[in-house]
Amino acid sequence: MAVLVEPGRIELREEVRAAPRAGELLVRVRAALTDGTDLKTYRRGHPQMPTPTRFGHEFSGDVAAVGEGVSEFASGDPVMCVHTAPCRACFWCAQAEEELCERLMSTMVLGAYADYVTLPRAVVEQNCFHKPAGISYREAAFLEPLSCVVHSVEMVRQRGSVAIVGDGAFGLLHALVLRERGIDAILVGRRAERLESARSYGFDPVDARATDAAAAVRERTGGRGADAVIECTGTQSAWEETPSLVRRGGTVSLFGGLAAGSRVAFDAARLHYDEVRVVSPFHFTPRAVRSARNLLVERRIDVTPLITHAYPLHEIADAFARLDAGEGMKACIEP
Ligand SMILES: [Zn+2]
Ligand SMILES: [Zn+2]
Repeated sequence: MAVLVEPGRIELREEVRAAPRAGELLVRVRAALTDGTDLKTYRRGHPQMPTPTRFGHEFSGDVAAVGEGVSEFASGDPVMCVHTAPCRACFWCAQAEEELCERLMSTMVLGAYADYVTLPRAVVEQNCFHKPAGISYREAAFLEPLSCVVHSVEMVRQRGSVAIVGDGAFGLLHALVLRERGIDAILVGRRAERLESARSYGFDPVDARATDAAAAVRERTGGRGADAVIECTGTQSAWEETPSLVRRGGTVSLFGGLAAGSRVAFDAARLHYDEVRVVSPFHFTPRAVRSARNLLVERRIDVTPLITHAYPLHEIADAFARLDAGEGMKACIEP
């Protein structure tokens, strides 16, 4: 199992494989993806994950052992899941705002960069599914990031025209989910390699290094600006830039989280006199997980080109070193 000993240093350690308790599943990991949160944690640590910590949270695999009382799954079953599940008892769960469940973060599963991972009862009962043979373990591992994106897209109600700031994996996943719903999003990016992969998906991205992004978006939206703009970079400068791309009365969605304590500045007149709505989607609900599962299982979107590198577990340090150097989009660790 891979342990992030301190920012920038990953070590492989022997894992003690515990038998699953009642309601739990032990899963042999087959594919575990990297995402922006993992890279941020690798670079500077994470408040929810004090080091040394296991990490990795986007994965799929095979059931290796079944806890007492689990009837839905058997040893050997290929499964796909997300790493959290709501408690179904708190104030937020009662409002169907399960993404804000007060127990979500304290019960999440971390440590997918390992041979085995244990799923708690809540995940087994609510957010774990059989993986059909028609999709690969790599595709199945997209269930978690795709659930975030489905939740995000559902928080934006106005979407005649949508601009997406950020050409990374989350930007592209947003564009793919929107396209599946009949909306051709305007992707705004600044990295040659990523703009190229957006083009290979058939998008016509705005290269913000070469053109004024706000002017380019206005030009493609009848001079008004986009109905909605979704920020997918998690940088302060992009947050602050986002309102300049939206039309009067449109929606700004701040999807990419910033570190606690970050401050951002917006032009108050733009927000108030132009009635710009601001939403800030976080995480996902079990409903979003189900929609994301259907998108993958019915192969309505093709996620595999987002994986640019694959490594065995013992090369995980190289995987993060390359991502840290700005290479590639998502790496797949295959223990
Ligand atoms: Zn709850
Ligand atoms: Zn993720």
